Amino acid sequence: MSLSLESKCLHLERSSTDGCSHYGAISFPIYQTATYAHPAVGQSTGFDYSRLQNPTREQLEKTVAALEGGIDALALSSGMAAIALLMELFSPGDNIIADSDLYGGSIRLFDNVSRKNGITFTRENISALDETGLSSLITPATKAIYIETPTNPMMNVTDIAAVAGIAKKHGLLLIVDNTFMSPYFQNPLSLGADIVIHSGTKFLAGHNDTLAGFIVTNRADIQEKLRFLIKTTGAGLSPFDSWLTLRGIKTLAVRMEKAQENAAKIVGWLKAQPSVTKVIYPGLPEHPGFAVQKKQARGFGSMVTFNVTSEEKAKSILNKVRLIQFAESLGGVETLITYPVTQTHADVPEDIREKNGITTSTLRLSVGIEDADDLVEDLRQALEEK
Ligand SMILES: *Cc1c(COP(=O)(O)O)cnc(C)c1O
Repeated sequence: MSLSLESKCLHLERSSTDGCSHYGAISFPIYQTATYAHPAVGQSTGFDYSRLQNPTREQLEKTVAALEGGIDALALSSGMAAIALLMELFSPGDNIIADSDLYGGSIRLFDNVSRKNGITFTRENISALDETGLSSLITPATKAIYIETPTNPMMNVTDIAAVAGIAKKHGLLLIVDNTFMSPYFQNPLSLGADIVIHSGTKFLAGHNDTLAGFIVTNRADIQEKLRFLIKTTGAGLSPFDSWLTLRGIKTLAVRMEKAQENAAKIVGWLKAQPSVTKVIYPGLPEHPGFAVQKKQARGFGSMVTFNVTSEEKAKSILNKVRLIQFAESLGGVETLITYPVTQTHADVPEDIREKNGITTSTLRLSVGIEDADDLVEDLRQALEEK
């Protein structure tokens, strides 16, 4: 039976639970074990040691692979653990073309760790490049293109299929960090990407209560390398965190829909406020990526970036919000407001930050699933001059 995405959040098409799920438990058990007894010499239950694999983690990995249309997904202890493992696919001398507007932690990893290991990065606003522009960045050392779409926090939209076409032509991997859309709204592998990254901490787990990360691929050669790497380096997600993420994914569809609906209402309201100078949301027809977003995704998501009249105004809003929490992170059921300059993007060099358009009056909202009117009311009192 072929399942829709909503059903895949709750059920695997072919149950892998045989021999694992006792007593008819509806919730997949937490297999809190480091190791597994062998029935006899030369025999295995299928599990030997939890660094290699654990039943709860495997159930989660199969679920995420199914949601993204990959042949395999690896669950890691955080999004950054996933990206760090991914970097082990590359060797000294390799070059990666990376979008200039990325999650700040990814930039910090590339600049301080991957670079030290001999990997070089060419950084451009890929959403603004045509085929000639992107092709001109490719050198014989280039091995991959790394993008987010929409980007964090400037919401630049890149045409995944177009970039995939260029990557294929030049024999490069296309890696897409799909955290902002989640597999509910966008599936980069189906558009030609080779590898999808998720911070599972965000929309997938969805409750601001656990860290998780994923690498998903539809290529057997990459899967084999990644399985060797996770076994060898050991940052696989713990059984309990795997269970929390599985539990979060059960409601992915309804959370994504409600958060998006709330975001649309907030965007409409923000646009009418005199102290708001710019609202950046890919669901706005005036957003430069609107048409591409409509073509390649099933929604616009619930991340909203906006600029206010001054740094003082931005700080006063952060101090005055009550229902909305001033906190890093995104994608959870609670609405959070973030100040990218000092939080998520503090380690991004100032010149790059400015070039990307992140200023001291830029705020980022991760809209949750509260009542939309309550959220608007909170923003109204926070924006008020007093
Ligand atoms: C949060 C985030 C990450 C890092 O994930 P962690 O789970 O915090 O380690 C990577 N990419 C994007 C787009 C993110 O938002």
